[in-house]
Amino acid sequence: MGLDFKIKDFAYPGAILKLKREFERHQWLSQEILQEYQLKRLQIIIAHAYQNVPYYQTLFHKNGLVPGDIKTIKDLEKIPCLTKDLLRINYSSLIARNVKQYDPMELATSGTTGGQVKFLVDRVSNVLEFVYYWRSWGWAGYRLGDKFAELSAQVFTPYETRGKEFYRYQPLIRRLLLNSLQIAHRNADVYVNIFRKFKPLFLKGLPSNLYMLALVLNERKGHGICLRAVFSQGETLLRHQRELIERVFSCKVFDAYGHMERTVAISQCSEGNYHVHQDYGVTEFEPFSTNSGTGADEVLTEIVSTSLYNFSMPLIRYRTGDLAKIHLKPVACLCKRSFPIVASLEGRIADVVITPDQRAITALYVALDRTPGILLGQIVQDQIDQLVVRVACDAGDRLVVDLALIRNIKEFVGNKMKIEIIHESVEKIRGENFRKFKSVVSQVSSEKIFGSSIIIW
Ligand SMILES: [Zn+2]
Repeated sequence: MGLDFKIKDFAYPGAILKLKREFERHQWLSQEILQEYQLKRLQIIIAHAYQNVPYYQTLFHKNGLVPGDIKTIKDLEKIPCLTKDLLRINYSSLIARNVKQYDPMELATSGTTGGQVKFLVDRVSNVLEFVYYWRSWGWAGYRLGDKFAELSAQVFTPYETRGKEFYRYQPLIRRLLLNSLQIAHRNADVYVNIFRKFKPLFLKGLPSNLYMLALVLNERKGHGICLRAVFSQGETLLRHQRELIERVFSCKVFDAYGHMERTVAISQCSEGNYHVHQDYGVTEFEPFSTNSGTGADEVLTEIVSTSLYNFSMPLIRYRTGDLAKIHLKPVACLCKRSFPIVASLEGRIADVVITPDQRAITALYVALDRTPGILLGQIVQDQIDQLVVRVACDAGDRLVVDLALIRNIKEFVGNKMKIEIIHESVEKIRGENFRKFKSVVSQVSSEKIFGSSIIIW
């Protein structure tokens, strides 16, 4: 999931404004009315899936279900969950027969958190994304047209050519793209000067990117950068990261959770609570154990979610593989929004790779995501100039995968890093405790380069 402010998204101004008005209203409605809204949309999706999607036709028949059996949100539990493996195996039969009328776009999940899976979303769901971000950023005071900065590595790859640029400014959408591949102590003044020149009000990025930039800027006391809010998403935001980012940028961090499949959206309000956006999707939290322990007021769950907007390939009761702790008793928020609250989110965690020229590369798992044919991968830095990459591939040509993977990793780390690839099974890479799985692991002490707190992951 990503707010990309693509110009083509503005091709639906009427649809955007209509949905924005609805979404603004929804957040203040009672639970009863919100659930009515969810149920209405859910029943449309279920009826469509039953009529037009072969996978669901078979599934419903096998389980003796018809759309009329889904009379409440709770009835959704009658439908068996869809896992990422099932999605991969049943890709074709999950496509609606009338898919063309929804102008589908093919996207892919990450290959680092359970195996890469392709899926379709309706093109018009870009409107949903846009409106969701507009509303959740609005909780931090953002107004459309406010200048914001965004940390990005992808638009500045390959590093050896585009990576030398520090920023790009897009005046039309008032976005300042900052190159995260250049985060290094020697470049602190460059970043300070860019902030001084463009004066963005908000900053968006992955928690690891934001944290590394904060570590570098923290060395420049009196840098004077003062933002209204920082938006983090895409990885688990750790407490020490939040503390430093808030201190360095003199503002709050508003963290959010979502994924490419566009079935779930959770974001923080100004009170610091994580609200589930109920008009975006139906989100279930499935406990790992019914026995949460005596006296426990929180329980660890897996997020299972259903899109309310995707007709090309409806994902119903989709197991995200991501974890959240929820309160056993409902908690009300001082912000007065009725969207339910999640206690904490536990998704992807990855280490930072340090290059031989002492740049901090965060989110290197993107290189795995970009390489077709990888089912699961893990990048291990065992020396300052060496990465060992463990990959499980599909039935395709391994040599082709290896060459593409090396090229994709070098686009981030540069040409001085040695890269060794080892082919292993998905099970071996996952290990026994998959919940602790990290897609990027660093065995190199970065303490001397970026400060001591970097190694607490
Ligand atoms: Zn709130």
